[in-house]
Order: sequence, then structure tokens, then C-alpha cells
Amino acid sequence: MSDSSEPEDSAPRTSRNFIEVEIDRDLAEGRTQQVHTRFPPEPNGYLHLGHAKAICVSFGFAEQYQGLCNLRFDDTNPSKEEDRYVKAIQDDVRWLGFDWQERLYFASDFFEELYGFAQHLIEGGHAYVDDLGVEEMRAQRGGPNVAGTNSPNRDRPTQVSSDLFGRMRAGEFEEGSCVLRAKIDMAHQNLLMRDPVLYRIQDSEHHRTGRDWCIYPTYDMAHGQCDALEKVSHSLCSLEFENHRPLYEWLVQRLPIDSPPRQIEFSRLNLTQSVLSKRKLVELVEGGHVDGWDDPRLPTLQGLRRRGYTPEAVRSFCARVGVTKVSSTAELFWLEDALREDQNKRAPRRMAVLDPLRITIRTLEEDQSVVCAAVNNPEDPDGDTRDVELTRHVLIERSDFLEDAPRKFFRLRPEGRVRLRYGPILTCEEVIKDESGEITELICSHDERTFAGASVEGEKRVKGIIHWVSASKSIAAEVHLLEPLFMSENPASLDDWMGDLNPDSRQVLEGARLEPCLGDAPVGQTVQFERLGYFTRDCSASDGPPVFLRAVTLRDRSSKKGK
Ligand code: ATP
Ligand code: MG
Repeated sequence: MSDSSEPEDSAPRTSRNFIEVEIDRDLAEGRTQQVHTRFPPEPNGYLHLGHAKAICVSFGFAEQYQGLCNLRFDDTNPSKEEDRYVKAIQDDVRWLGFDWQERLYFASDFFEELYGFAQHLIEGGHAYVDDLGVEEMRAQRGGPNVAGTNSPNRDRPTQVSSDLFGRMRAGEFEEGSCVLRAKIDMAHQNLLMRDPVLYRIQDSEHHRTGRDWCIYPTYDMAHGQCDALEKVSHSLCSLEFENHRPLYEWLVQRLPIDSPPRQIEFSRLNLTQSVLSKRKLVELVEGGHVDGWDDPRLPTLQGLRRRGYTPEAVRSFCARVGVTKVSSTAELFWLEDALREDQNKRAPRRMAVLDPLRITIRTLEEDQSVVCAAVNNPEDPDGDTRDVELTRHVLIERSDFLEDAPRKFFRLRPEGRVRLRYGPILTCEEVIKDESGEITELICSHDERTFAGASVEGEKRVKGIIHWVSASKSIAAEVHLLEPLFMSENPASLDDWMGDLNPDSRQVLEGARLEPCLGDAPVGQTVQFERLGYFTRDCSASDGPPVFLRAVTLRDRSSKKGK
């Protein structure tokens, strides 16, 4: 029996992480009255495990400080965004166990205010309309150690820029013909501060505002300003936004904002043998390399959920990963451990045989059936049992019998003895083979005195206990064994990351047999198949046998790595 210690996210921590230190200071020094965070997904794909970390961080700190957390869709790039993603993202956040209540926002709700902010910047001499071509603008930007060049339009009179910006909005100009830029410093060490683009013309239909707008704010123009409009106190985001922070601060300082929000960055979640980037996930889905966004091999929240991950398992994994500024990669087996630990407490135990070998128990009659009591869940305090029927013909795992077994092999061998789980001890008397030499059946006898775990005094103890099902009382099933989708530790770092796809990430077993009660398991139910792992009932063709996916094995891969 494995341990049932409390999940890590409820274990008390003694040290404060760096974000808690910052928030505590802001509260103590009166800069913050109430902690208010937000989770800001762009509705251009489904959420993955990296987003789960960001959700746990933002909603988690809000909860911890009795504050608030908004769900904000960062929908400023209409060509990539869709309503179906908005819905799926809301489902995923709720599934993880977080509630934004009435605090649902869309950046597009603020387009008018953001336009007003842009005009405010122009009027203050902090922004200008530039109609340099894209290429020219890029050439004038300079490089890491090369200062950029001022645009000839940089010192346009305020009134001219303001009029041009109004005409941009009115749709008088073609896409790409002009942009609004911040007027900062073309020699700034941070390239993002070299007069970055704040607004561009985009001739596409927006999923919420339709054709109302043809100019859209950039990420930098929208993000901090939405934070401010929503009264966010701490805007927590991943480290790739660190070099955007000077621009974030530059903008909020120049706009009529009462209490400016603060951006604090934490390290992104990376996971071995996985890719955590919406763009790469889209390529996998659209290229047909997986069976959709909820493919159980994907680290999308929908895929994890289909595989049998519970919200508690995902949250406990995120808690274990923690919040730091150090970029690191979490091991896939941490995630698997979180699932194992969680399902150990809830999943019922059943027996299933994936690769059956037939046994005839010659000491039982053809129509005889002996009822054995099997434990449903050793973690369950009531210790409920169910009946499993032992019949003359049973099936065991082919790998549980070895003809030339080494000494330490405690399962079945010719003339050897083994206990059937919840049943009697068998002795193997004869091995039957077909013409090719393949073993087709074992003939065994059972010892009547050894049911219900009983042993016979004076006889040598039988060490091996194997799982089994009755040949006639079991049902057929299709079982999918899942392996990591990628072979390398860090596929995202490879130029040809697609070439690293594991061709054996899904192995389909068609001849599996299950205890009959598993035929009624609802889709999504996770069950422990004794000795084999945790398996989740998947949807299957209406006339086909039930399909079960192996969510995770029982063996802890961390022990292999010496942890
Ligand atoms: P991707 O990089 O996968 O395309 P994204 O950053 O574009 O994702 P957004 O919808 O913009 O996706 O992300 C919403 C929030 O989730 C952002 O605050 C971002 O910092 C955070 N986030 C995204 N990926 C990760 C990750 N791997 N680890 C932690 N936070 C992440
Ligand atoms: Mg992003």
C-alpha cells in the first residue's frame, strides 16, 4: 500500500517565496490595499500545463491574501482568436477549481478606453504616427550594440499625429501603411524601448467586436492598461515578459492612472519530453500527429483530464514545482507521481489481463464457480469488497509465466506454485504448446485449503501473487498504453522537434479482458488495474468494446532515477 500523506498544496510551508515577499512589503508599506491579480490568456488555443501553473499562481495568491483574481481574455489579435477557445478556457479554469465570479473581462471591452489612452499619449508628446514601411522601420531599429535611428516622422507636430491616428481608426489607411509608436529612445539598451509600436491597422473580423475596429493595440499597449483599468495590483506573468517591464512601467506612469499595477515575473514551467507552447501544440493537432486537443498524450488540460488527471493532481504538481525566478524543467515523473498519489486514494481496484494466457484448473468442474471476495480499495476505511468468480478456465498475464524462470522469479513456472489474487494457490502441472512452440495453455490444479489468503501449515510459503480474470465471466476490452509523446528530454530545443515524436507513444492492445463490472464504468472513470497501473475509461465506438487508457503505471519512475 502506498502512502496517503496530504497533498503538497495543503502542507504548511515555512519559507516565503519571492512573490510573497514582494506582496507582503507592498501591503506593509501601504502601496497595496487589496491583492488583486489576473490570469490573462489569449483565446487562440487551448490551455496547457504551463497555463495551469500561471492560473495556480494568480488565483492562488488572490486566495491566499483574501484578494481578487480576474479572468481576462487578452483578445487584441483578431486574426488568431476564436469564441470556441474562450469557452474552452473558461471550462478549464473552472475545472482546475478556480472561480473568477463576476470578474470576467476582455481586453476588447476596453478598446475605447485604450484608444483614449493612446490619444492621451499623443497629446502629451509621448507617441506619434509613423508611416515608414515595415522594412525601413526594422532597419532603423539598430541591434543589441547598435543604436537605432530616429524616424523622420518622430517629431511630427502632435496635432498631425492625433489627426492621423483618428484617420487610422476611421479606416482611411491600408493595413501595414502606418502605426502608432511610443516616443521613447531609439538608442535604448532594451530594444523593446526603441519607439515600440502601440497600435497597428488590422483588417480582420474580431470575435467579439466584429468590424467595429480596424486598429488594434499591441500586447504592450493593452496589457498594463487593462491591468490598471481592472484595478489589478500585481500582474504576475512568466519571465519572458521581464524585458517588457520597463515599457509596462513607462506607459502606466504617463497615463492618467491612480494606482499603477506592478508586474512581477516568475519562471515558466517546462516539462521533460513535452512541448508547452500553444504554437507547437497547434502544429501537432493541425498536422494530425495527435488526435485533437484532448489527445491524452498532450499536456493540454483537456488531454490531461481525458487521461485521468484530476484537478487536485494538477494543482499538487504545480505546488511541487513552486514559484521561482530560476528557469528550470520539471521532470515528467513528478507529474506522474502527482497523479499516482491522487488516484491511489480514490481509484477503485479491479483486475484486468492485458495479454492473456489461458489456464485450465483441472480440479474445478466445467460449470463450477467459486466466489472470492476482492477488496475494492485498500485506502477506503470501510474496506468494501466485491465478488469475483473463479471458474475452471481463467486468464493470467502471459508475462506471469516463464518456462525457464530464473531463481528469483516468484510467479508461475512449470511445476511451480503461485497464488491467484483473492483466490487459491495453483500448481502448474502441464504446459501445452501449438506446433510453432508457442504456449497456448497451462494445466494447473488448485489447493482448496488456500482460499481467502489461507496457507497450509508445514508447506513452503508461496511468494508470488498474480492477477487474473475468469475466461467465461470476463469481458473484452481495448487497452491503450501511453508513453511520452517525445523521446528527448527537451524536444522544444531541437530544430527538428517534430522528428523527435515517439512513434510508439500509443500501443493498442486489442485482446485485453476485464472483470465484468468494468463494462459499466462511466467515461472518465479511473480505475486501478491491480499490478498494472491506473486506467481511465475512454469513449469508444458504440458497437465496440470498452476502451481504457493507461494514465500511469504503478511503478514510480523516480525510484529508477535514485530520487
Ligand atoms: P504559449 O507560450 O504556450 O503560446 P502564451 O504565453 O502565448 O502561451 P497566453 O495565453 O498569452 O499564452 O498565456 C496566458 C498566461 O499564461 C500568461 O500570463 C503567461 O505568462 C502564462 N504562461 C504561458 N505559458 C506558461 C508556462 N509554460 N509556464 C508558466 N506560465 C505560462
Ligand atoms: Mg503569450
